[in-house]
Amino acid sequence: MKKLIMDEFAEFECIGGKCPDTCCAGWKVTIDPDSNKRYQDLEGTFGDELRKSIKTDDKGNIYFEMQKDGRCPFLDEENLCRVYKNIGPEAMCNTCQNYPRVAYQAGDILFATISISCPEAGRMILGREDKQQYAFDEDKVKIVSDTEDWDKFNEAIRAYTTIHDILQERDFFVRERLTAMIIYAYQMQELIDNKEPTAPLVQLFSDVDQYAPVIAQILTGKRAIAEKIRFVRIYVNALLKTARIPALVNEFYQVLDYLSNASDNTDELWQNAFLTFDENVSETEQEQLLVYFLFRHFMEKYKGRSIWEGVLFILMFYSAYRCLTVFHYMSERKFPEFEWRILMIARMSRQFEHADGVWEAVYDNMRENGMAQPGFLLNLIN
Ligand code: SF4
Repeated sequence: MKKLIMDEFAEFECIGGKCPDTCCAGWKVTIDPDSNKRYQDLEGTFGDELRKSIKTDDKGNIYFEMQKDGRCPFLDEENLCRVYKNIGPEAMCNTCQNYPRVAYQAGDILFATISISCPEAGRMILGREDKQQYAFDEDKVKIVSDTEDWDKFNEAIRAYTTIHDILQERDFFVRERLTAMIIYAYQMQELIDNKEPTAPLVQLFSDVDQYAPVIAQILTGKRAIAEKIRFVRIYVNALLKTARIPALVNEFYQVLDYLSNASDNTDELWQNAFLTFDENVSETEQEQLLVYFLFRHFMEKYKGRSIWEGVLFILMFYSAYRCLTVFHYMSERKFPEFEWRILMIARMSRQFEHADGVWEAVYDNMRENGMAQPGFLLNLIN
């Protein structure tokens, strides 16, 4: 099997007690069978303590029950892990040992990265200046799959590499790159659905000089504020139905409250606020977030869905990050620092990337509200 590994996968080190939002709180920690056996066999008072917190849910998953305040019972007052301290790092369950490292297989490729639901991972990925790099590896495991549609897989990989190159094309502003991505992905999907040849389109979007005029025709200088406000209302309301992270829920309510009550809701102020975003958030930071999302989800989403839906997922998260940052600035009158943005992204990721069914709920909402169409999305990213 081939392995494509983001640089940060090998470089990551947990910062433990210095972490601004520990991962050992606020969600379920699933315990793998080997670790569970180790904990069941452990003698002494710490073994008794471990067993007291181990529960099994309706589906048979074994997990550590969090305390009422949402914290793991083995997190000490300095935010350090007592399992690690008492019985060693190798005794931690797989979830805790691996996190935030995540991997998924698509076709015969394993995609491995770290999740930006960890603020330190976010800092590493979004803070890097050079283009994202990967290590490539291959082992002897042969992928034999009767169910894989290899033509479909090859099409998806071609789309992945084309979009990846577009997103890293630094001769263009990020919103120009996103325009190219939207046009390419939508047209590609149409060709695939109609069983028409895709090679000419791939060729066009593989050559910057050829697709530059396409972008220039579409992008206008004026930003579509009404669409952004509409998107945030729908996005936030959809997420509030499943939201379980208090800090994020608070942020969402503040945004909705501001949108309903602000006396300074003028188009000009919104235009300036988005300009302030462009002045304060580097193109590189935005590029890294987009490239991360592409890598983390595109090929996985494609498995059961389509190229267009893979692109929608990236756009949805990116737009939410951009709009929520701008709305926070509008309501607080102070532009949020990098630290705030990393934390907000980590919380959004925990809510959005790591919970079953949330993406589907938001996607359905977007589709029902006509937001999954290129026209709307081009306005949203402008
Ligand atoms: S969120 Fe990341 S840095 Fe923070 S405790 Fe967890 S792994 Fe460590």
